Amino acid sequence: MTSQEIKALDGEHVMQTYGRFDVAFDHGEGAALYSPEGKKYIDFTSGIGVTSLGYGNKQWVEAIARQAAKLQHTSNLFYNEPYARLAEVLTRRSGMKAVFFANAGGEANEGMIKLARKYSFDKYGPGRSGIITLRQSFHGRTITTLAATGQDQFHNYFFPFTEGFAYVPPNDAKALKDALTNDMCAVMVELIQGEGGVNPLDPGYVGEIEKICRELDILLLVDEVQTGVGRTGALFAFEKYGVRPDVVSFAKGVAGGLPMGGFLANEKCAAVLGPGTHATTFGANPVCAAAALEVMNQLSDEMLAEVGEKGEYIMAEISGWELPIVKEVRGMGLMIGVSLAGAAPKAVAEKCVKNGLLILTAGDDALRFLPPLVITAEEIGAGLRILKDVLEGF
Ligand code: PLP
Repeated sequence: MTSQEIKALDGEHVMQTYGRFDVAFDHGEGAALYSPEGKKYIDFTSGIGVTSLGYGNKQWVEAIARQAAKLQHTSNLFYNEPYARLAEVLTRRSGMKAVFFANAGGEANEGMIKLARKYSFDKYGPGRSGIITLRQSFHGRTITTLAATGQDQFHNYFFPFTEGFAYVPPNDAKALKDALTNDMCAVMVELIQGEGGVNPLDPGYVGEIEKICRELDILLLVDEVQTGVGRTGALFAFEKYGVRPDVVSFAKGVAGGLPMGGFLANEKCAAVLGPGTHATTFGANPVCAAAALEVMNQLSDEMLAEVGEKGEYIMAEISGWELPIVKEVRGMGLMIGVSLAGAAPKAVAEKCVKNGLLILTAGDDALRFLPPLVITAEEIGAGLRILKDVLEGF
């Protein structure tokens, strides 16, 4: 099919919920994608932080094909090997005690919220179910995770939202302390707010949150749907921050492009959700688990260090251009935000896409880059040349 034919079918039969760029893709290789007409695009997005091993990764493709041929699904009423092995790897490498497998980020956060409320209910009884989240956060699109999201623009149309969320400004420990009334059971944060603008929290503030949570037996929930699984140059960003969450959610890049999410709990929280309290049909799917095992296999310490180096290189390059349109370059590893002065991020992103570079936007004024973790120096160079050209033209 041509791009035109694909777009026509979409326009006719798909709910128009996405503001899509005017491009269709047919296949990919490394960190490049190709349209049906053969036009090449350097990918600085990895499908919003998902295709961590890029496109056409041989071992990843083979792991999926092998597992699909052997066993594609059993219900969670039975055991199988891939999810059990994946659980062992994830808990060992994260230092957490147990995992629940879901299918995506919003769903993982829903489960994490359920766990926090049940932890508190089991220990303290009803009336201690509130959760504090941060302004500019983003936690998902379900009714509850929209309520958890600390941006008013997401609290529309779908009333009534789940109650019990309170929002505080990031990096303000006093505001957090003031909001911690005795009906609260958890604080939930992204360590680097992704959708909100690629805003890393101050490490001192995060340490303070951890301390307050420990003192009051409030759970520290860390949403690592975007920052997790190697994105920041560590398996989880909480390692970079030197804190230990009670529960951490993940999704996006974990299976390299197949749908998987989940949450890992520490010793204290590992047994909170018992039989019958939480479940999902597709969770721990063997094909997704085989894909995730291959991602974890390739995500060596060496590769994590390279993610850090590549991120430093990209940030230094963009800063070094000293363009007036570039207000600030920030981020960690291959999660990078560039806030702009005097130009709409969407217009810049559209021009980049036109010129063969895929990028994202975040918050009100930022460009966002989440390239595949395996992106090469050549691909980075080619992408940055297009970006510089576009930025100079604004
Ligand atoms: N949490 C964070 C931090 C995210 O960045 C996202 C998605 O962008 C989500 C949750 C929701 O994930 P999903 O779209 O997989 O439900």
